[in-house]
Amino acid sequence: MSKFWSPLTASLVPYVPGEQPKDKAYIKLNTNENPYPPSPRVIEAITAAANADLRLYPDPTCEGLVQAAAKYYGLSARQVFVGNGSDEILAFAFAAFFDPAKKILFPDITYSFYKVYAKLYGLQTELIPLDEQFNVQVDQFHSDNGGIIIPNPNAPTAQLISLEQIKMLLDNNPNQAVIIDEAYIDFGGQSAVQLIQQYPNLLVVQTLSKSRSLAGLRVGFAFGSEELIEGLNRIKNSFNSYTLDRLALAGAIASFEDEAYFKETTAKVIHTRERVADQLLALGFKVTESKANFVFISHPSIAAEGIFKQLREKGVLVRYFAQARIDEYLRVSIGTDDEMDAFVRAVQEIVGL
Ligand code: PMP
Repeated sequence: MSKFWSPLTASLVPYVPGEQPKDKAYIKLNTNENPYPPSPRVIEAITAAANADLRLYPDPTCEGLVQAAAKYYGLSARQVFVGNGSDEILAFAFAAFFDPAKKILFPDITYSFYKVYAKLYGLQTELIPLDEQFNVQVDQFHSDNGGIIIPNPNAPTAQLISLEQIKMLLDNNPNQAVIIDEAYIDFGGQSAVQLIQQYPNLLVVQTLSKSRSLAGLRVGFAFGSEELIEGLNRIKNSFNSYTLDRLALAGAIASFEDEAYFKETTAKVIHTRERVADQLLALGFKVTESKANFVFISHPSIAAEGIFKQLREKGVLVRYFAQARIDEYLRVSIGTDDEMDAFVRAVQEIVGL
């Protein structure tokens, strides 16, 4: 608390990001980063951009990147927005579309930044419980709301809802913005992007942080009707018109030019995930069905916090949430095969098998 803080600052409960440890080298399975490096073409493009015009401001319209993303999904440039990570885009979208006079809806167990943004913008919230198996209960999202946001797959539970369920949600809520946060969609889900042609209230948010191995570059996207994209641009240009820097723009454009690399690394992560999920099941763990680059696991007799601490001592970092209903679970990002073999060996020692 400081006497210099505004009432807003004093009221905030900020997001606590996953650890980026500096004390020693861990097998780092705690923040859902991709274990493979970005495409070599991305590095070449960033190097070239660094040697070119850093003296000059970047393009405030991010035109080259908007075009690349539009082409990738067969959209018009006016249906695409780019931002400094999807976190920034989500913050803009909360400000741009959600109605403070009504409650906004999201799952009770979900990406914890949503609560933070709601607080930041003075929005009321109603949390819709997951079912017993941790599925998002789409039919519980009633239509008396000021906007809806759902990650697909959900985080940290890893489960997917279908495009049919998303359509149902959109049909029931034609007068509010519905945001589908697809941070992990490339690991086995089907994107809702094409539905934006039919539903002017749908905003689909994606990122290069996970499937494109570019968490360090901070690049995110939103896809939606021209009116939604214009809304996001109004917020952005009232805040910082140069959101993406020249290096990020160059690297992000290049990542769209190397489809083969992206497909190969994504397939490797999915393959490793399935293998590790089977191994964990054989060790007695409960494993939710994952369509993300992480698994969400629970052991019937050993406390998750204890496993988390022992793994940490063994040099393996995973994510533990001291939060009701999921405090017996761990979220484990999918690393390389070697990293996951080391993780499974460490877990075997802990569970005594
Ligand atoms: N949405 C979800 C559901 C996430 O888990 C994350 C990553 N922590 C993000 C959005 C943000 O990703 P980024 O800002 O790196 O694009």
